Amino acid sequence: MRALLAALLLLVVGGGRAEAKVHVVTTIDTFADLARKVGGDRVDVKSLSHGYMDPHFVEPKPSLVIDLNRADLLVHVGLELEIGWLPPLVLGSRNEKITLGQPGNLDASSQIPVLDVPTTKIDRSLGDIHPQGNPHYWISPDNAVIVAREIAARLEQIDPAGAGTYKANFERFQGEVAKRRAEWEKRAAPVRGMKIVTYHKSWSYVSKWLGLQEVGYVEPKPGIPAPPSHIAALIAFMRREGVKVILMESFYPRNTVDLVGQKAGAKTLVMPSDVNATPEIKDYFALVDAVVNKLVAQ
Ligand SMILES: [Zn+2]
Repeated sequence: MRALLAALLLLVVGGGRAEAKVHVVTTIDTFADLARKVGGDRVDVKSLSHGYMDPHFVEPKPSLVIDLNRADLLVHVGLELEIGWLPPLVLGSRNEKITLGQPGNLDASSQIPVLDVPTTKIDRSLGDIHPQGNPHYWISPDNAVIVAREIAARLEQIDPAGAGTYKANFERFQGEVAKRRAEWEKRAAPVRGMKIVTYHKSWSYVSKWLGLQEVGYVEPKPGIPAPPSHIAALIAFMRREGVKVILMESFYPRNTVDLVGQKAGAKTLVMPSDVNATPEIKDYFALVDAVVNKLVAQ
């Protein structure tokens, strides 16, 4: 009888715990992975976009509004990456907890040392989609640790009972990153100094970390398709500079890049930029592994 009572009690308490999970919604899969790593079994995590999609342009499906309506914490990239699609969804969710300025709204860029901040005021109407600096910061190990720390702090604020768990999980992640980082840097040493052209200006943080030299971009400005004059100049420049590699994400159109590569004698590397970019990239560590592998295998 006593054993039965104990079992029942466990069931009730266990059920209660499950109900009390913190609902986290992120805008990209990498942040969802970081939230799972830090939150463990105290959180339930969903991502609004997926690694094989262009995070600048996400289709605002009704199911995303429902996810946001249930969220206790929204983690977004910031720096206007999601400005074209996230604000109307948050508004539509009628969830006060995740509105700007609330503990449930985490702009993950807030502690990031931002690169490519324009020195002159950029008007978004001219088409540049990085007016506050480069929002593609999450692959760099330093930045992933910063974001994980921010997520841990917010989870602690929203769910104080989990403070110990969040702190321990964050520290485990930080330790694992430090260990892997040394391996990644060693493996990537042969490509240090390599000249590259990228399709979109989304590799600045990786280039800075691994010492790649970005000498040009297929898009003349972030988000602006290249006119033929830009392409012709880029091809001539790449030949002169001996650039052998172009990086692009899978969701960008290949035709222009292939043309540039063909004429300039350069190879296109289709790079993963987020968790789930391909099915085998299941977490942050696999993402960085895949990026390093692609770079060194060219
Ligand atoms: Zn961008």
